[in-house]
Amino acid sequence: MKVLKFGGTSVGSSERMKEVAKLILSNEKQIIVLSAMSGTTNSLVQIAQLLYSKKNDEANKLITQLQENYSDVVKNLYTKTEFVQEGNELITSHFDYMRSFTQDIFTAHEERAILAQGELISSALFQLYLEEQKIKSVLLPALNFMRIDTNGEPDNYYIKENLSRELNNYPEENLFVTQGYICRNLYGEIDNLKRGGSDYTASLIGAALNAEEIQIWTDISGFHNNDPRYVENTHPIERLSFDEAAELAYFGAKILHPSSVLPAKLANVPVRLKNTMKPEDPGTLISGNSIGEGIKAVAAKDGITVIKIKSGRMFLAYGFLRKVFEVFERFKTPIDMITTSEVAVSVTIDNTKCLKEITEELSQYGSVEIDSNQTIICVVGENLIERKGIIDKVLESLKHFNIRMISYGGSKHNISILVNSKDKREALNSLNEIFST
Ligand code: ADP
Ligand code: ASP
Ligand code: MG
Repeated sequence: MKVLKFGGTSVGSSERMKEVAKLILSNEKQIIVLSAMSGTTNSLVQIAQLLYSKKNDEANKLITQLQENYSDVVKNLYTKTEFVQEGNELITSHFDYMRSFTQDIFTAHEERAILAQGELISSALFQLYLEEQKIKSVLLPALNFMRIDTNGEPDNYYIKENLSRELNNYPEENLFVTQGYICRNLYGEIDNLKRGGSDYTASLIGAALNAEEIQIWTDISGFHNNDPRYVENTHPIERLSFDEAAELAYFGAKILHPSSVLPAKLANVPVRLKNTMKPEDPGTLISGNSIGEGIKAVAAKDGITVIKIKSGRMFLAYGFLRKVFEVFERFKTPIDMITTSEVAVSVTIDNTKCLKEITEELSQYGSVEIDSNQTIICVVGENLIERKGIIDKVLESLKHFNIRMISYGGSKHNISILVNSKDKREALNSLNEIFST
């Protein structure tokens, strides 16, 4: 069994959907995980925001606009009248459902139901297209097997049990289509795996089924050595280890959802990144083995806040750090980077939902300073710590920037550097010069 995930751009038009159908022609067992068509989830977020602010007329206008785009997709995707009709009925039912929210009270529950419509529509339209092409397939509702717990973490046992049960209903079938991103929460409500979550769905499915391979099909030929949105002359990397890829995804490489590598790593299922527009390109293979030495790639994560706790009197006492970390634990706020000195500790967070409460609690242990608008730049490679000269190169290339924190030695394959977000683009470009030396 292989799991193939196609992102928003890959299913972004009727033409692209037709191309995807060609890419999946095979006799192997496959689960196809689809994202919403590109731009749709952003529009759904906008619709939800309008409904929250009770701008129901504007929301209705946007719903109608989006429906018109989908009417065009239906017109171009199907050839036979009965399929065009079925496609139109399908989108009408989803858009009428969305319209029903413009009359009621709007809460987070309704918002999540709206956000799920993009994947529900794309997967249903695609599966109907396969039907028109006489390609046998089954539409598996992700809401029947994908579930998160109260902490928003996937419930792996539930996913495995329920996905296997769904698949066992179709022992003769080879091709399954399902939705990325969407899931249910512990209360059975519609929820999601956060933006970009279709990668995570693919990896959770691949791990649950112990798949042969997870393929992430997107709009670029593999994992690049630097962020192509900010740096020119980046190039795809042939091989990455799970740890290297996990580190890069977590620290901002948008090509993969931050949490999507771990399930594949734990199940030891290789992940292949491929370009839907250039399927002949080799892409990147992520597996348990790494090849190549030295610095392999750089990624950057924005929206970081530094919290510095200064406490000359208590700092060296046993248990001080534990007390500090317990505050973050109580407010379910993960820490990304830590540096300590004799009198102070600085930590970074990206979730500032409870910043006020955290700051108040930390104040009992010392003076607290906050710096926002920071960016973590993560340099990843094989044995970076054991190889002489790597850190010198990194620091040399960043000598014109103010470095706020450095994390070195935490793992063998990662050096993290905190800079002001305004310096990010230039810092990434400076670091890119290391690859050509
Ligand atoms: P999809 O819709 O297929 O999930 P995404 O937009 O989420 O696609 O991810 C692909 C994009 O990630 C690329 O177009 C590229 O701009 C961006 N990206 C950021 N960092 C990297 C990187 N290191 N390698 C490749 N792409 C990257
Ligand atoms: N459609 C969702 C998003 O745009 C999930 C995904 O594309 O991976 O975030
Ligand atoms: Mg994505």
